[in-house]
Amino acid sequence: MLDLVIGFFGTIVTGLFVIYLILFVMLQGKKNELSAPNSLIDMDRMPVLRPIPISTANQKSFLNKILVFVFHVRRWRVEKAFIYEYKGNQYAIHAGFEFDGASIPKPLWALLSPVGLLLIPGLIHDYGYRYNGIYILDEQGKPVWDETISTQSGWDELLNGIGQHVNKIKILNELAKFGLDLGGGTAWNKWRDKNEDRVPFMWTVDDKKQASNEIQDNVPEASIDEIDKTSESDVKEKIFASGTTKTTQIGYINANNQQVLGSINLDEIDKKKVIFKLCCGHCNEVYGAKTSEIHRRKCPTCQEGKPSVNG
Ligand SMILES: [Zn+2]
Repeated sequence: MLDLVIGFFGTIVTGLFVIYLILFVMLQGKKNELSAPNSLIDMDRMPVLRPIPISTANQKSFLNKILVFVFHVRRWRVEKAFIYEYKGNQYAIHAGFEFDGASIPKPLWALLSPVGLLLIPGLIHDYGYRYNGIYILDEQGKPVWDETISTQSGWDELLNGIGQHVNKIKILNELAKFGLDLGGGTAWNKWRDKNEDRVPFMWTVDDKKQASNEIQDNVPEASIDEIDKTSESDVKEKIFASGTTKTTQIGYINANNQQVLGSINLDEIDKKKVIFKLCCGHCNEVYGAKTSEIHRRKCPTCQEGKPSVNG
């Protein structure tokens, strides 16, 4: 039995290694040709992802460190809402979504890395597996929740289609889909069991609030005094708050797709001086606007709106 297993894996590994060697020899004559910049995707349409730390340093024992090292994978947080147009739909992944490619079965990662050629299809596929729905931008650029795709095979189909759209290597995308038919069920069932609510759409990550909480939670004791002194005033100045009306709530989006991030000077005595930060849903420009103009504000950068009001 063991012989068979070793023989089986040995053959596969040897086969892949031989293919690799042959391709490596062919590579030598083609280096110049391959380095030509021929991507169909502009840099500014690529997802903005921030790596999330892997916690080995704070593990209690060496064994724990090794287990984290072997089994925890790098996770990535989507920093700005990621929009991808495919077959007339503007699929939108909300900012703050955490992505690790886990909807692609791990044994396939050597060939089908979720941060390699399958990054974009994998990101959208992870999202679909998790929420069994996705935001699509409407004609005004407003994110609308969509559940047209509602089955595992539907999301696998989308991965295959977007993969073909992005990387144009049919065999790779077919292989990914085949792998998902075999091994995608685990991830799919895990998320169906958890049955999470969908998350309100966010264009950018609101780190300010999180950062201030983290500072208070994770400070090593010796430095608490020092940090308290410096951060308290900083944090107070920078915390974004909602106003009391509908158009001044954090997350409110007006008809021009301008989103309210909140205000840092709500307690201003002269209410005309209260400034709200807004973020453009098209170009991510962040700027200041007066309370009374939020509902009709246009982006100063891409919609010829008034210049930013600074406060
Ligand atoms: Zn803009």
